[in-house]
Amino acid sequence: MNDRPTDPLALLEADTTLEAAQPILALAAQYLADTRAGEGPVSTWHSAEVIADRLAEPLPRRSRPLADVARRLSSLLLDDVNRLAHPMYIGHQVSAPLPAAVWTDALVSALNQSMAVREMSPSFTPLEHQVVRWMTDLVGWDTRAGGTMTSGGTEATFTALLAARSRAIPDVWANGLGPNPPVLLCGEHAHYAVARAAGAMGLGLSRVVVIPADDHRLSVTALRVQLERLRAAGTRVMAVVATAGCTATGTFDDLPAIADLCDEFADERGPLWLHVDAAHGGAAMLSASHRHRVTGLARARSVAWDPHKTLLLPLAAGLLLMREEDDLERAFSQKAPYLFTPSNEARAWDMGPRSFQCSRRADVLKLWVAFQRYGAEALAALYERLCQMAQTLHGLLQGHAQFAPLHAPESNILCFAWNPPAVDPRDRDALTDALRARYNRSGRGWITATTLDGRRVLRITVMNARTDVAHIEALVRGLDAEAAYVVQHHR
Ligand SMILES: *Cc1c(COP(=O)(O)O)cnc(C)c1O
Repeated sequence: MNDRPTDPLALLEADTTLEAAQPILALAAQYLADTRAGEGPVSTWHSAEVIADRLAEPLPRRSRPLADVARRLSSLLLDDVNRLAHPMYIGHQVSAPLPAAVWTDALVSALNQSMAVREMSPSFTPLEHQVVRWMTDLVGWDTRAGGTMTSGGTEATFTALLAARSRAIPDVWANGLGPNPPVLLCGEHAHYAVARAAGAMGLGLSRVVVIPADDHRLSVTALRVQLERLRAAGTRVMAVVATAGCTATGTFDDLPAIADLCDEFADERGPLWLHVDAAHGGAAMLSASHRHRVTGLARARSVAWDPHKTLLLPLAAGLLLMREEDDLERAFSQKAPYLFTPSNEARAWDMGPRSFQCSRRADVLKLWVAFQRYGAEALAALYERLCQMAQTLHGLLQGHAQFAPLHAPESNILCFAWNPPAVDPRDRDALTDALRARYNRSGRGWITATTLDGRRVLRITVMNARTDVAHIEALVRGLDAEAAYVVQHHR
């Protein structure tokens, strides 16, 4: 290599062509080709330490050709990724993403339009408004509705609860929560995003009232009892959070019954704020056969929905949808004359005032491309297929000697218990974790585990449209084989 630093501008220019991009893009295409067919291991058996050792090197001071970087990248990293596009990856709630959206990501980066203000993203800001409009129409709201894209369900729920906070405590932005802040209610299976929001906004976990579940669904009876108790004590309620597709089991809360209670326990400001965390299950809206799961969604005041989950977008693509756009403006009372347009007319387009983020990627383009390329019908069919595979596993495990499904799947998630024969029940949790670790390390497949009703259980989330009945059968065979080994080696 040359001793003198190369002309840095020439380095940039050398990488601008499609030909220059080819080594990187080819890695993505090769990955898709290799994993699509279901060949090779699903994950890695290497520890983080082994991989960290391999990566340890001084900060690179000199340039190297992009093709060399692509080779290094491939040999250092790609063997040990989780192959989400492999049909035996049936693990966490992260998608095997839609290819059209994958390629669009490069364009989003190339254009690098920031969504903070309209003047920085002259065509993409109106695009985000348009896509948000599609989504609020799907919910069934009118033109007062609005929203924003977010980094995911966590930010969407945080922002929705900030809006609810501003409604409950109108001067909160200037003066804080005050001495007697209201409470927040959510189900025991609500995502930790809810508790995190309460902690982050200074409400405190002690102001979160957790409602027990009935069949993994927020118990409406218990919610009523709590609301009556709070009313009797004179405690104000900031919001009720329902979940449409809860993380553990994919179960949908009874939205109409919860919305009825929000109406019944209205305070002087009107019905209680209902936030629906549909981060996981929002895609049910698109499907004729699943839409009934989200009946009543339009009665929410705010909805979180992650297209990067069951709509199979690559990270990150989250949405916060608001029945009344004005609520969102009130979540943040930020003044920033150097950035936000002072005139009301222009401000209507700016996304920054509506968002926790300032600089923000135009992830909306991926969502738009996904709808343009596949159409809502194919996206709905893909969602139905994911859910069908959870049903398939449910069917296969019914009557299985050792594995028992723990609920009827309402989406693409199924939790199931392992009941190893002739094993002390006190060892079951540890053995279940051992079985999962062994199965995942084997390369045959990849699943998750969770704690449900106090017990460690196995869990699948079907996030790859290529996962078929044969793969679900292979999962059961693989678990059978590894289970026999784990039991045998258990003293
Ligand atoms: C995944 C999930 C979240 C968190 O969303 P992120 O996109 O990971 O921030 C919140 N709620 C539910 C129900 C989820 O499934």
